Amino acid sequence: FIIPDFSSFVKDIEEIYNRCKVNTSGKIADYIPQLTRYCPESWGVSICTVDGQRFSIGDVEEPFTLQSCSKPLTYAIALEKLGPKVVHSYVGQEPSGRNFNELVLDQNKKPHNPMINAGAILTCSLMNALVKPDMTSAEIFDYTMSWFKRLSGGEYIGFNNAVFLSEREAADRNYALGFYMRENKCFPKRTNLKEVMDYYFQCCAMETNCEAMSVIAASMANGGICPTTEEKVFRPEVIRDVLSIMHSCGTYDYSGQFAFKVGLPAKSGVSGGMMLVIPNVMGIFAWSPPLDDLGNTVRGLQFCEELVNTFNFHRYDNL
Ligand code: GLN
Repeated sequence: FIIPDFSSFVKDIEEIYNRCKVNTSGKIADYIPQLTRYCPESWGVSICTVDGQRFSIGDVEEPFTLQSCSKPLTYAIALEKLGPKVVHSYVGQEPSGRNFNELVLDQNKKPHNPMINAGAILTCSLMNALVKPDMTSAEIFDYTMSWFKRLSGGEYIGFNNAVFLSEREAADRNYALGFYMRENKCFPKRTNLKEVMDYYFQCCAMETNCEAMSVIAASMANGGICPTTEEKVFRPEVIRDVLSIMHSCGTYDYSGQFAFKVGLPAKSGVSGGMMLVIPNVMGIFAWSPPLDDLGNTVRGLQFCEELVNTFNFHRYDNL
């Protein structure tokens, strides 16, 4: 086993979990009205190792929407199908140094990276116009969901229509990003912006839970092979690229500090999710809705920081 003494490992995880539980700071995102319905007390952590050992504690079966945690997944599909050359002729690899939904492009008039809203909307346009130009919106939705499902080894991936509608109603900023990118000719030819925006909101409104997401994180830790089904979902080169961008850009404008303190690829979302990948070891998913000022889950962030204080998981431990 990759973690030989799993039961003592789990004891330490429980202690970290409990220390984070009493942290009641942060605020639930309210710019998507439906997200305010979640309970600020909700707190779950699931772990899946690359050899399939599992541990879960707290509200791990409670459903929540993926939000920005969908961004590395759609990016991975685009890379798998188009390769990094094509994908990165449209979107950069640089942290933006700004908010996740800031109305800003880089010096080349491209979105900074695929982990912030502009870059993710752009990735969605690549899916529509290049990966599956012949598919209807319904087919692309199913196609995307089937990738997410395979990554999770068939665990819970659903769709929350209320969150989808709520976000689409309140999406002035995301539409502004879409129009701003269209004005700057960021999208491939034949892009239907309305369909792209709907597809982006649908990816954000896919629903899951900690258990399923820990398997997705573990599939990434395992180079694209799902540890519970042994299905090869993505090529290792794809996962290498995804993890590189998550490492530098995965936690919004906290990414530099996160890379410094935690030293691992991660991706957070406004529903309170935090996906953490320990390459070749395990995937972890932490979920709790209250967010800090930069949009990262407070408990999830504390968990990641305490984890590397307890174990030598930081990329540059063991030198
Ligand atoms: N659906 C959210 C948005 O577009 C996703 C952003 C996030 O999770 N940070 O605003």
